[in-house]
Amino acid sequence: MSFKSDIEIAREARKKPIQEIGAKLGIPSESLLPYGHDKAKVGQDFIESLKDREDGKLILVTAINPTPAGEGKTTTTVGLGDGLNRIGKKAAICIREASLGPCFGMKGGAAGGGYAQVVPMEEMNLHFTGDFHAVTSAHNLLSALIDNHIYWGNELGIDERRVTWRRVVDMNDRALRDMVTSLGGVANGFPRQTGFDITVASEVMACLCLANDLADLQKRLGDIIVAYTRTREPIYARDLKADGAMTVLLKDAMQPNLVQTLENNPAFVHGGPFANIAHGCNSVIATKTALKLADYVVTEAGFGADLGAEKFMNIKCRKAGIAPDVVVIVATIRALKMNGGVAKKDLGSEDVAAVRSGCPNLGRHIANVKSFGVPVVVAINHFVSDTAAEVAAVEAFVEVQGAEAILCRHWELGSEGTEKLATRVAQIADSGLSQFAPLYYDEMPLFEKIETIAKRIYHANEVLADKKIRDQLRQWEEQGYGHLPVCMAKTQYSFSTDPNLRGAPTGHGVPIREVRLSAGAGFIVVICGEIMTMPGLPRTPAAEAIMLNEAGEVEGLF
Ligand code: ADP
Ligand code: MG
Repeated sequence: MSFKSDIEIAREARKKPIQEIGAKLGIPSESLLPYGHDKAKVGQDFIESLKDREDGKLILVTAINPTPAGEGKTTTTVGLGDGLNRIGKKAAICIREASLGPCFGMKGGAAGGGYAQVVPMEEMNLHFTGDFHAVTSAHNLLSALIDNHIYWGNELGIDERRVTWRRVVDMNDRALRDMVTSLGGVANGFPRQTGFDITVASEVMACLCLANDLADLQKRLGDIIVAYTRTREPIYARDLKADGAMTVLLKDAMQPNLVQTLENNPAFVHGGPFANIAHGCNSVIATKTALKLADYVVTEAGFGADLGAEKFMNIKCRKAGIAPDVVVIVATIRALKMNGGVAKKDLGSEDVAAVRSGCPNLGRHIANVKSFGVPVVVAINHFVSDTAAEVAAVEAFVEVQGAEAILCRHWELGSEGTEKLATRVAQIADSGLSQFAPLYYDEMPLFEKIETIAKRIYHANEVLADKKIRDQLRQWEEQGYGHLPVCMAKTQYSFSTDPNLRGAPTGHGVPIREVRLSAGAGFIVVICGEIMTMPGLPRTPAAEAIMLNEAGEVEGLF
């Protein structure tokens, strides 16, 4: 059997004018700011006017530890949103915008897949409504202001060796990781070593995604620490008077984007913070707006539940004052096999024993999510190569864990393939069963917060950190940052910090390499293992196959 590619399916979509999609949620057309015919931003005043409305139910989609290709969280988020609409519910989805880096690199697009996609997928995966360009510009404006301040006499006493603010570009480009700027003589300033990160790793992106409104955004931007003086006093973006102009550049980007699924249901696509050095979910403003407009909102957190769901709950929910009513954990047969020790090249053939030995990974994610007080449903995202015996093994395992697994075929069938999941998820969300509580309280010392996550979520037995790191955490506590949540950065492939340690490891240590303060975003980044803030392209980048065909359509995006 041959299947159409994601882009072929997307191209055949019968899109409706964006005003019709907005009308489904009661957004008047004058409150939609159209970008072409099939995309619009939702106006700030309209969002403001929704304040006193009641919130709908919030459904979080997360996953087990994945294979490098992704396990279909976005695909399932879209499929479930369509499924809820199919059974007559007023539902919207909220996902992240796509970064050009992975799009031209290895991972492909971010609009879902098969018959569970958001359209226009080409635009969503490319320039979309320009939000990422705005973030890039705002970030680099601040970079330029720093070097300019030093050039004109450095009144603030910035220590050029201690400028922590780098530059960003939305591209995978390893050549820019480390560099010396301002070479070429007196007129070009003072040479210093710095580099570029990818735009999604920018703290400006994290600020945009956590801000409640423009005033809050400006405050967060002002709070960003860009450098230190020789006596280690922090220099804030506010000290450079950068926050006002940065907010101006981000004014439009702050408004959520509305598009549609293949089945013409509303989808908010807004913000895209990195899932490792930031919290990895779509913007607070989009999620909160969707909750005011729909009865059910389905949203996704990046990476596996040990990283994505943990940060969704402990960072996004805490800061936004929202709480999930039910969590859907996406599991695939191939990722379970990989967790059971099967090599990537052998994932295509039936192996019930391997599925069984990978199941403890799923079991731990179920228990972890439940420990936040939130009910769980497992969605088995069906691949055509999965066999009945493999699926039955997962269903049997999940039942023993006191949860239920539902087979979903949305990739192949669209909403018809998630009817059962949608029905069950709506029932649970309506039941009021969820008693959400974050894992740790605000005033818990920073190191204890890290230990709590390492022990309770990763099942590690200790956190390894040398004196320098512990001293740094204590210093931040003394400076008034002790109440911040911690943003863990580690591999997505394992509960441990070793990507090759699959399944459900116990007794491992979690070594902390570095800690960083994101004072604007409002979290402490805890780096465990190798973390790339500027990825590279693979030997054969996806870009090589991306081109325009004779009809002027984009080919090769997936
Ligand atoms: P995630 O959000 O977990 O990273 P995505 O939903 O983006 O994953 O899916 C990653 C890729 O896998 C996409 O190209 C998508 O088309 C493909 N995919 C997802 N589900 C299925 C499925 N059931 N069968 C085949 N391919 C799938
Ligand atoms: Mg995704």
